[in-house]
Amino acid sequence: MFLTITTTGNPDRPATDLGFLLHKHPEKAQAFSTSHGTAHVFYPEASAERCTAALLLEVDPVALVRRGKGKGRGGAPDAALAQYVNDRPYAASSLLSVALSTVFKTALSGVCRALPERAQEPLPLRIEVPALPARGGVELVRRLFGPLGWTTVDAVTLPLDAQFPEWGDSRYVRLVLQGELRLVDALRQLYVLLPVLDDAKHYWVAPDEVDKLLRAGEGWLANHPEQTLITSRYLSRRRGLTREAMQRLELVRLAESDDLDVESIDNAVDETADTEERPVPLAVQRRTAILTALRAAGASRVLDLGCGQGQLVQELLKGVGFTEIVGVDVSMRALTLASRRLKLDRMGERQAGRVTLQQGSLTYTDKRLKGYDAAVLSEVIEHLDLPRLPALEYAVFGSARPRTVIVTTPNVEYNVRWESLPAGQVRHGDHRFEWTRAEFQGWAREVAQRHGYEVDFVQVGPEDPEVGPPTQMAVFTMTAADRNGKTAGKTTENKTKKEATAA
Ligand code: SAH
Repeated sequence: MFLTITTTGNPDRPATDLGFLLHKHPEKAQAFSTSHGTAHVFYPEASAERCTAALLLEVDPVALVRRGKGKGRGGAPDAALAQYVNDRPYAASSLLSVALSTVFKTALSGVCRALPERAQEPLPLRIEVPALPARGGVELVRRLFGPLGWTTVDAVTLPLDAQFPEWGDSRYVRLVLQGELRLVDALRQLYVLLPVLDDAKHYWVAPDEVDKLLRAGEGWLANHPEQTLITSRYLSRRRGLTREAMQRLELVRLAESDDLDVESIDNAVDETADTEERPVPLAVQRRTAILTALRAAGASRVLDLGCGQGQLVQELLKGVGFTEIVGVDVSMRALTLASRRLKLDRMGERQAGRVTLQQGSLTYTDKRLKGYDAAVLSEVIEHLDLPRLPALEYAVFGSARPRTVIVTTPNVEYNVRWESLPAGQVRHGDHRFEWTRAEFQGWAREVAQRHGYEVDFVQVGPEDPEVGPPTQMAVFTMTAADRNGKTAGKTTENKTKKEATAA
C-alpha cells in the first residue's frame, strides 16, 4: 500500500518544508509499527524545487487476521481462506488511512510549530495513490474528490492484468490529485475518503468514529454533495451513527451559512452597554470606527488585510468615497464566503470594478499591495504566532507602506467583563495572543518609530473605567517627512480619535 505526496518550491520557499509540515525529516527513512504492520515514511526526492514524501504500509496479514479474531470483533466475515488471501497487503485502503493517522497525527491536526503559517497556506500538491480499491470506480472517485478544490482529479481504472486486457478491469484505480491546498486539508480528505472508497473497514466502528469523522471533515464535509454516501460508508453503514453524524453536519452548515462572524464572542450583543435601545454588536461598532478613521484620513483606495468573510469590504462598497477596495486573506474558504456574501458574480460591472478579493499571506511581502492609501488589519494580528509578527510588520509598514494603517485587536484586560468567557481564556480559539493596552500601545509605538509613522489610539466599544474598552485600535499615519506633499498630521489624527470614539 503506497501513497506519495509531492510539492514544489523555490529557494525562498523550499519544497523540503514538506518535511516540517509532515513532521518527518526528509533525510531519514523512518518506520512505525501500526496495529496492522509497519508503516515506512521516506523521501524519494527532496530538493528546494521538488520534494516527495512516500508512505508505504507493509501489512502483516497474520496480524490482520489475529487482530480481527482475537478481540472477537471486526475481521472479514469471509471464508477462512479469504482471511489470509486478500488484497489488504497490496492496495491502499482503510489500513493506509489508519497508518496515515498514526504516522501524520500532528500534521492531521494542522499544527506545525516550525512553520505555522505555511501549515495554514495552500501548497502546490500532487498526491498519487497507485492502487486504490474503489467500489464505485473512477466515476465515484471523481464525485468524491471533484468538489474539494483540486485542479485535476485524475482517476484511471487499472486492468486486472496489464498483459491480458481482455480479462477486463480490476476494482482498483490509479489516482492522481493535483492542486493548491493546505496539506492538512489534503490529508484529512484522504483519511476519510480512502476507507470510503474501499468500503471494507477492517476494524470495528466505535461511537467515537463520528467525532473522528467530523474532525477530519472540518471545512469540507458539511457542504460536500456526497456527504450522505461518505458518512454512511465511513461509518460502515451503521444507521444510528450515520444519523447522528448527519445531524451534527447540519448544525455545522447552519453555523456556516449564518451571518456569524469569525469572532463570534465579539459579535454577541454586549449586555454591558448601558442604553435603552438595542445594543450594537461590537463587530459593528468596530467597523464604524474603522470607516470613520478611513474617512478622516481621506483614504479612497483601501486594503482590507485579513478580510475574513468580507463584512468590512461590504461596508466599504456602500461608501461612495472608496473607489478601490482589495480584500486579502490567506484562507480560501474565507474568500469564498466573502465572494458569496458580496454576490460578486451578480454584481454590476462598475461595482465589481471597485473590488478585488485575493489570496495571500501577510507575513510575506507582496508587490500587489504597494501604493494604496490605507490598509486595515481588523482583528488579524492576534491570529499570528508572535514570532511571525515582525514579518507582517515588515510586509505592511516596510514594503506595502500605505499612508494610513489601522490595526484593531482585543484588549485582554476587558475579558474579565465577559461573563460567558472562562477566566484566562482568549476570545477565540485561534487567537495566539491577546494584549493589554500597554502591550498593544508599546508595540504600536515601536512599529511607528521603526517605519516613519505617527500613531494614535482609539477606544472601540463601551469603555470600562478600570479595564478600558473591549477593542483597541491604532491609527498609524505616515509622517510628513516620509512622504512628499500632502500631510494629515496630528490634528487630523486627533479628530479621527474623537470621531471614532464617539461612533
Ligand atoms: N478582518 C476580519 C476577519 C478577522 S479574523 C474581521 O475583522 O472580522 C482573522 C483573519 O485573518 C482570518 O480570516 C484569517 O484567515 C486571516 N489571516 C490570519 N493569518 C493570516 C495571514 N498570515 N495572512 C493573511 N490572512 C491571515
